Amino acid sequence: MPHLQSFREFIPIMLQAAVFLDKDGTLLEDVSYNVDPSLMRFTKGARKALWLLAALPYPLFVISNQAGVALGHFEHDALQAVETQLHRMFGECGAKLNGVYWCPHHPQGTVSRYAIECGCRKPSPGMLLRAAREHQLDLPRSWFVGDILDDAEAGNRAGCHTVLLDNGHETQWRKGGSRTPDALASDLLEAAHLVLQRSNAQLRLAAENRGSVR
Ligand SMILES: [Mg+2]
Ligand SMILES: [Zn+2]
Repeated sequence: MPHLQSFREFIPIMLQAAVFLDKDGTLLEDVSYNVDPSLMRFTKGARKALWLLAALPYPLFVISNQAGVALGHFEHDALQAVETQLHRMFGECGAKLNGVYWCPHHPQGTVSRYAIECGCRKPSPGMLLRAAREHQLDLPRSWFVGDILDDAEAGNRAGCHTVLLDNGHETQWRKGGSRTPDALASDLLEAAHLVLQRSNAQLRLAAENRGSVR
């Protein structure tokens, strides 16, 4: 009988696909530098979107730049209440929030410890890469939905599928090789439908490749 430890070496680590959501302007109405839970409101369609996404076997994450910390608008600790409220709001939709990643930095910040050029502020992919490491996520099968091209770029650089909400929040349209989203959606609900459709196809394909579909 093999020892349990040596037995484990033969079990492959299963990487899971995930859905990453930008917070401000994508999941929630954008209230500048808000950390007051009572002012957090879902965007149009977001409730039903979460309910739909919860049907997938994919963990859900929120990925958000919070430069307000570096710019001195609020303390890093204030984000804890926001995170708690996000968990509650996901729960109300029958969904589970598996994790939240914040970038508190800004290169022109006034709070010196956060005033840095970091690798996590979108359009850099750092938060997605960290989530993948910490949760064993399969980035090429994962999705990132955001409302500006910096989100699309972060998702693309992490190797995810990307959806841009075409809701008027992007105003600069600074384009480039890595900034083109894979798909556009009018709101988070349409984005969720898209993820669901494409993922169902992927799940079917994976099942067929295993030969388990008759
Ligand atoms: Mg946003
Ligand atoms: Zn950062």
